[in-house]
Amino acid sequence: MSNVETAPQELECAGDAAEEPVHELLVGREVVLGGTRGLTVTRTIPHKDRRMVGAWCFVDHYGPVSIAGGPGMRVGPHPHCGLQTVSWLVEGDVLHRDSLGSLAMITPGELNLMTAGGGISHSEESPSDAPERLHGVQLWVALPGDQRDVTAHFEHHGDLPKRVVGGARVTVIMGELNGLVSPAKTYTPIVGAEISLAPGTSLSLPLRPDFEYAVLVLTGGVIADGVDLDVGPLLYLGSQRTSLDLTAESGGRLLLLGGEPFAEQLVMWWNYVARDHDEIVQARAEWMDGDRFGTVVGYDGDPLPAPELPGTRLKPRGRHR
Ligand code: MN
Repeated sequence: MSNVETAPQELECAGDAAEEPVHELLVGREVVLGGTRGLTVTRTIPHKDRRMVGAWCFVDHYGPVSIAGGPGMRVGPHPHCGLQTVSWLVEGDVLHRDSLGSLAMITPGELNLMTAGGGISHSEESPSDAPERLHGVQLWVALPGDQRDVTAHFEHHGDLPKRVVGGARVTVIMGELNGLVSPAKTYTPIVGAEISLAPGTSLSLPLRPDFEYAVLVLTGGVIADGVDLDVGPLLYLGSQRTSLDLTAESGGRLLLLGGEPFAEQLVMWWNYVARDHDEIVQARAEWMDGDRFGTVVGYDGDPLPAPELPGTRLKPRGRHR
């Protein structure tokens, strides 16, 4: 997925991590990917009030939508650096290609994880024989400073750890939860998990007090720590929690995102996570004219041009604004 805003503003990719349990409802904004017939996504992170949850620094939720008679997802080749992209589906198929030569389809319950490190480019598209409905999320994880230039690599995980707990199916996408450990490579202490609750079920998940957490409902409705939550906003939960109570009277599915609060100062612009203005300028130039981000082979369409930089210098920001 690409950030396709034509004039992306500087995003200060760090917020004050609450040092206590809280309830903060973050309403997302709608962004259209890929032109007028493109896919509409709801972006809850970064948010003006909170830019990260642990190292999670980008949360796009799209669908469910019918792609019958339309192109579905068509995100042409574009670069990334300083982050990992996490692709997760509830319905449909998405085909990933990257400049390393990876070609990987994902279907619901599978993870496509791309560690951009120092630089990679990729495309994402609905395959020609895709199911009619498409529904999923794309998430980004910021890499820590000492590993932000790691060699780019791609992982597909088709068999993630799952467990049924009290009528809910827990699938660990990244990190560890409830004794289940994802095989996906992580660079900071984080967790990402999908919890699917059958109607009328409740469970209590063990949490780490040193992590901050948030939940995003993907289908149905869930009561999370007493808060009635529907599809749409992200509920930020703060830290210093040892458990999270979830109930779904009519059934529901949610994402739990968490991690150690990310202390570093970052600049996040377009598809890049960097540490200062000059890194962004260099990465932009090297996408428009250079070989740092490689070439995606096989995508039927043009690479996405980088937007213009803002007229002022991008400032790295910490958690204190
Ligand atoms: Mn992308």
